[in-house]
Amino acid sequence: MPVRMQRRIRWAWVALGALLLNMALPLRPQAAQANDIRAQLEQAQRDLEAVRRKQKEVQNELADLAFQAEEAEAQLRLVEAELVQANANLAIVAAEYEEVSAELELVQAEVALAQARYAEKRKILGDRIRAMRENGPVDKLSVLFGAATFREFISRAEILATIARKDRELVEQMKAEKLALEEKQRQVEGRKTRLAALKAEAEEYQATVVAKREEREQVSRSLEDRRQALAAQLDEMERYGQQLAEQVAALVRELNRQAGVFAPIPPVTPVIITDHFGMRWHPILGTQRMHYGTDFAANYGQTVRAIEAGVVLQTSYDDVYGNLVIIDHGGGITSWYAHNSRILVSPGQAVSQGEAIALAGSTGWSTGPHVHLEIHVDGVQKNPLDYINW
Ligand SMILES: [Zn+2]
Repeated sequence: MPVRMQRRIRWAWVALGALLLNMALPLRPQAAQANDIRAQLEQAQRDLEAVRRKQKEVQNELADLAFQAEEAEAQLRLVEAELVQANANLAIVAAEYEEVSAELELVQAEVALAQARYAEKRKILGDRIRAMRENGPVDKLSVLFGAATFREFISRAEILATIARKDRELVEQMKAEKLALEEKQRQVEGRKTRLAALKAEAEEYQATVVAKREEREQVSRSLEDRRQALAAQLDEMERYGQQLAEQVAALVRELNRQAGVFAPIPPVTPVIITDHFGMRWHPILGTQRMHYGTDFAANYGQTVRAIEAGVVLQTSYDDVYGNLVIIDHGGGITSWYAHNSRILVSPGQAVSQGEAIALAGSTGWSTGPHVHLEIHVDGVQKNPLDYINW
């Protein structure tokens, strides 16, 4: 048998009016008929659903962005490592290039010296040959025939031949030295050219990596900009959703207040009451404590149902109640469902009688899965069994 609730306090009208005025709704509370209120409620619920859907979309996009940002960061770290490697390569090649450049200068100086020595020697030799050619026959002969004996004559002739041969050998040696040096110069020049090419390549690679880093940084920045924009949107939607939820709650309260009906059904079936409202020995504290609700045995994960139609006022977690759902039934009546393993509804959501709102569990101060049901009337805990007749 339904428990008829008395029509409630007039100030509820005032509160509702103030709330609706705040939201700039054209509703005039005094004039509002149940049908008008229902139409407004349906509109507000549609709007709220749309906002929640949009919120979910934005949250999905945010999650996607977070993934992309992580990826971009990982790539940036790779590029940074690549840049370090590129810089190291460039430094090595540049140092080698400097070394070979210095070596080439040395070899070039040596070649110039050898060339000078060779030219000098050629000149001395040339002078001597010219002198021999000009005064040679006389001088050479006077040297030879100045010999006192034939033995001395032979010896002097040998000495002259030896001098001429030594000169020729020396010139050949110097020529060979010069050629060897020129070959070395060519080699060093070739190495320098190769190193210059390598250096240019390393510089180009470095420039490419620097450009890549700039690009990755830009991607990271634009992802962050987008994330901030979405986060701001989400805040905005959260505020708007909150307003709509309050509006829905106010409208449902008003409808229920006008209907004046509170006829609850059990939150779980079969109904097995394991603890009653009133003073009791507290199973966890081990002292006499007031128990503000009725405990219903439930299986872990069993569906917990709204005992009466209303609007979800609060969903929360705390150390005592665990996962808690509070439903506002209007007329100052709320029902509380504690220790759930999971909550299936969200604040502002209208629920019908018997609708699944949670899964039973043992969160908070609880020794095993059960539903702790409280009924509050104008903020005061009442014995649920006073309102329940099943
Ligand atoms: Zn309890």
